[in-house]
Amino acid sequence: EAKAKGRNTFHFYSQELDAAANERLFIENELRIALKAKQFKLNYQPQVNSQTMEVIGYEALIRWYHPEKGFIPPDKFIHIAEATGMIVELGEWVIDEACHFSMRLQALGQAGNMSINLSARQFKDDRLISTLSDVLERTKMPPNLLHLELTESMLMGDVEAAITQLHEIKRLGVALSIDDFGTGYSSLSYLKRFPVDMLKVDRSFVQDIPEDQNDMEITAAIIAMAQKLKLQVVAEGVETQEQVDFLQKNNCFIVQGYFYSPPINESEVHDFYQSLQRPI
Ligand code: C2E
Ligand code: MG
Ligand code: MG
Ligand code: MG
Repeated sequence: EAKAKGRNTFHFYSQELDAAANERLFIENELRIALKAKQFKLNYQPQVNSQTMEVIGYEALIRWYHPEKGFIPPDKFIHIAEATGMIVELGEWVIDEACHFSMRLQALGQAGNMSINLSARQFKDDRLISTLSDVLERTKMPPNLLHLELTESMLMGDVEAAITQLHEIKRLGVALSIDDFGTGYSSLSYLKRFPVDMLKVDRSFVQDIPEDQNDMEITAAIIAMAQKLKLQVVAEGVETQEQVDFLQKNNCFIVQGYFYSPPINESEVHDFYQSLQRPI
């Protein structure tokens, strides 16, 4: 009995593993052609000053529309692109595309920051600095409009190498944000050595405000710490008026989340901008 059950369990797991391995292999293969086949698009999520209702910038978020599978979310493929090294080429496309869009916004008088997510491999890659300086040169984008988002885990490990790379990026005039702040385990003593400009409070702390007392304490503490360190702070995943109110009460005015807008495409960005300029 037990033996049969054990075999079944094994059989069950191995089928699951097969399915996962197959999906991974499928994505790995398809990723190779997706760039050339122009299956990627960027969406942009506005970052809004909740007090003045100004758009202070956008975060570029990649979207993959596969001809047979339809929409494949970034959480399903970014780690695979990272593992295979494809992320470097894909990331270069993201930087180029987002900076060009930013300059089109600029030309329309709709300037703002453009935040781009970097992956660990991209951050460590030797080509990053030349990729960034090339794109700034080609687009004539003011470097301070470009914000790169990194996560805490990318900065741990070889901390000294990370700090060197951060300084190289800062020398270009580009701004740096720590994404998903509070979910990694960055040591606070390192935080003040990282030449970063902004912290993004992770969505997981924001989503249960005002029900979760602990999350409110943590969020308030992160905001207070950011202020002490003279860092800007953005709250991610803001979905309700109560959350906006709580954040305002705690001196966090820049917010990003479905409450103001989900990630939207280029033409929707123009509409969104207009709608905030002419409030009802
Ligand atoms: P992230 O950088 O933390 O991006 C925020 C994620 O939260 C996005 O998911 C966004 O759509 C979602 N979001 C924004 N507001 C709300 C809200 O109010 N409620 C909820 N429930 N969700 C909200 P998305 O677009 O699926 O991206 C997931 C992750 O994939 C990103 O997390 C980022 O780590 C990664 N990613 C996306 N685009 C790129 C890229 O171009 N390069 C790299 N390396 N990673 C990327
Ligand atoms: Mg991000
Ligand atoms: Mg985030
Ligand atoms: Mg994330």
